Amino acid sequence: MSSAKYYRTEALTLKNMPLGESDLLVTLYCKDIGKLRAVAKGARKSTSKLVGHFEPLTINNISITKSTNLDIINQAETIEDFDHLKSNLIGMAQGVYINELLDGFAPESHSNNDLYILTHNVLKKLASHSQARLPLMYFELHLLRLSGLMPEIYHCVECREELSPECHRFSSDYGGTLCLQCKPPDSVIRNISLSALKVLRMLHKANVNRLPELKMSPSTAEELDSILRNTIQFWLDKEIRSKTFLEYLRRSTADTIYS
Ligand SMILES: [Zn+2]
Repeated sequence: MSSAKYYRTEALTLKNMPLGESDLLVTLYCKDIGKLRAVAKGARKSTSKLVGHFEPLTINNISITKSTNLDIINQAETIEDFDHLKSNLIGMAQGVYINELLDGFAPESHSNNDLYILTHNVLKKLASHSQARLPLMYFELHLLRLSGLMPEIYHCVECREELSPECHRFSSDYGGTLCLQCKPPDSVIRNISLSALKVLRMLHKANVNRLPELKMSPSTAEELDSILRNTIQFWLDKEIRSKTFLEYLRRSTADTIYS
């Protein structure tokens, strides 16, 4: 970030909370700055030019004044509001989950332009096809990668041998796939099917804008969900509440709408 007193950036709103009588304390993920907490002065007044700009899952061009404490947002121009995501419960739940993950993984004021672009692209993908499960898995895996926490999925994480088909297991806490011979002490080891491993490798290599129309079996989708959830929870060291809500919605909705 430059040393200027004022700066402009593009920013996704992750969450907000009331501050004082009429302000909002806003957590943003910015294209040029990374995660930032700032104050939108008077944003809860109906007459404010900032009102309505800082709902979660809204992207604004904002101008900010630096402050010794929290920076102050002066202007906001909404450039994307992901209406389609916000207008249905599952879409909203997926977007909130993405926001919670970003908030959990991203350190404050640490620029990661690739992570911003990943998030923007996945939200756009979900907004056009909000029932899809694959873009969300793509986000989970690449969030780990861009945070320096990518699980190993090609070799045994212990002996480094290349994995043979059907001869592999997975450990979230030990860092990824294991061969059948290696049993690191104190690690939680689980089976991973070949089909689940293939989807992970495909997601690792794919471009989010060209994700294939992959029809996963419900059991493969559940297995991948579980592997990614356990890995994310291991690194965040807490339950992700929005994921629990999303899983509740999935259980209460017909499986046929997911692909
Ligand atoms: Zn091994």
